[in-house]
Amino acid sequence: METAAKCYIGFRGKRNTVIKGIRGHIGAEKKMIYLDNAATTKPNPKAVEAMLPYLYDAYGNPSAVYSLGAGARKALNQARRTIAESLNAGPEEIFFTSGGTESDNWAFQIALKRMEKKGRHIITTKIEHHGILHTCKAWERQGYEVTYLDVDGEGFVSPESVEAAIRPDTVLVSIMFANNEVGTIEPIAEIGKLTREKGILFHTDAVQAYGHLPIDVEALGIDLLSASGHKFNGPKGVGFLYVRASVKPVTMLQGGAQESGYRGGTENVPGIVGMGKAAELAMDTMEERREKETMLRDYLIRRMLAEVESCRLSGPRENRLPGHASFVIPGIEGESLLILLDMKGICASSGSACTTGAPEPSHVLTAMGKSEAEAKGSLRLTLCAENTMEEMDTVVAAVKEIVQRLRSMTGMYRSRD
Ligand SMILES: *Cc1c(COP(=O)(O)O)cnc(C)c1O
Repeated sequence: METAAKCYIGFRGKRNTVIKGIRGHIGAEKKMIYLDNAATTKPNPKAVEAMLPYLYDAYGNPSAVYSLGAGARKALNQARRTIAESLNAGPEEIFFTSGGTESDNWAFQIALKRMEKKGRHIITTKIEHHGILHTCKAWERQGYEVTYLDVDGEGFVSPESVEAAIRPDTVLVSIMFANNEVGTIEPIAEIGKLTREKGILFHTDAVQAYGHLPIDVEALGIDLLSASGHKFNGPKGVGFLYVRASVKPVTMLQGGAQESGYRGGTENVPGIVGMGKAAELAMDTMEERREKETMLRDYLIRRMLAEVESCRLSGPRENRLPGHASFVIPGIEGESLLILLDMKGICASSGSACTTGAPEPSHVLTAMGKSEAEAKGSLRLTLCAENTMEEMDTVVAAVKEIVQRLRSMTGMYRSRD
């Protein structure tokens, strides 16, 4: 209630618009420590503000001839240019979608159609997001073969294993830029060099990386790239797919001439504008955010490992996402830990949000060689530059206390000393 009112004040005066307060938005009214930025990020108020005109007065259809429509069209083009520039791509190579999942699905449709004469073999990893893994399963049912590469104990896929998996009929390599559960940043440049040499298309799910790490699709040899607005402080339900100009897209949605005719349907103008603004802000502030997040992350990791008995880091020390900390804590159930943390106003996750509530342990942690029991006691703390050292102290104290309580209750855990 209070936040909603606050962020509208300036706007109301400027645009003379009647704005009703937002009532009863669950969970957003109390003060909390948000450490689940890999699941979603807080929208940047400047991105929200950039959206508002397109939700109120500037509602014209971008395809219309009158100026109300032309204004919306201009805003879409601006967002497209901003995003293209951020990747060292051209605006004609950016296609707006409903988010990371759609971009992943579409990337496969494009790559497999364009390469259908060459073969039906795909290479990916065991630690991809379900947006990729379930897409692979669907293509397997269509007669495609998929190689799921192993990763090492820190979640890295080796370029050598990619090379070894390549066959004459391999058409697509899809490997995520950075992992959402453990934060590992994959050796994208080496893989891109390899696929380029072999004439294979290279897709990367960069949903966790875009807006957080610098990405140059030319330098990295990327042909297709997925990103999602709500993972870089933009709105939900909007994302984009980069498609290299030499790779002709296929139609995702039959309909009007939107998105060069490849994705019909009136554009999500407010969402795209918000995402464009979020992209611009993310690029402008990337370095300072990265520094702050890395500092907070390393402090948090150091204290967690020192003070929570038997706690171990998942994923690497180096080459991990700046705001990403992930642990296994033997002798506890991740779910119970999360519920008790929530009661202390701390938002965290165990494994990925998409599998929370499901009984199986994380496919990422098991691929990294963790046992089922270890994978069940996982805790993911993903922070942003707005977090503070005091919050890190509060979280460590809370985890310490809860872990001790849970261990003494269940008696599952035996100290090793
Ligand atoms: C969040 C996420 C997605 C899905 O993005 P949506 O916009 O929520 O569909 C895909 N891949 C990765 C790595 C993610 O973290």
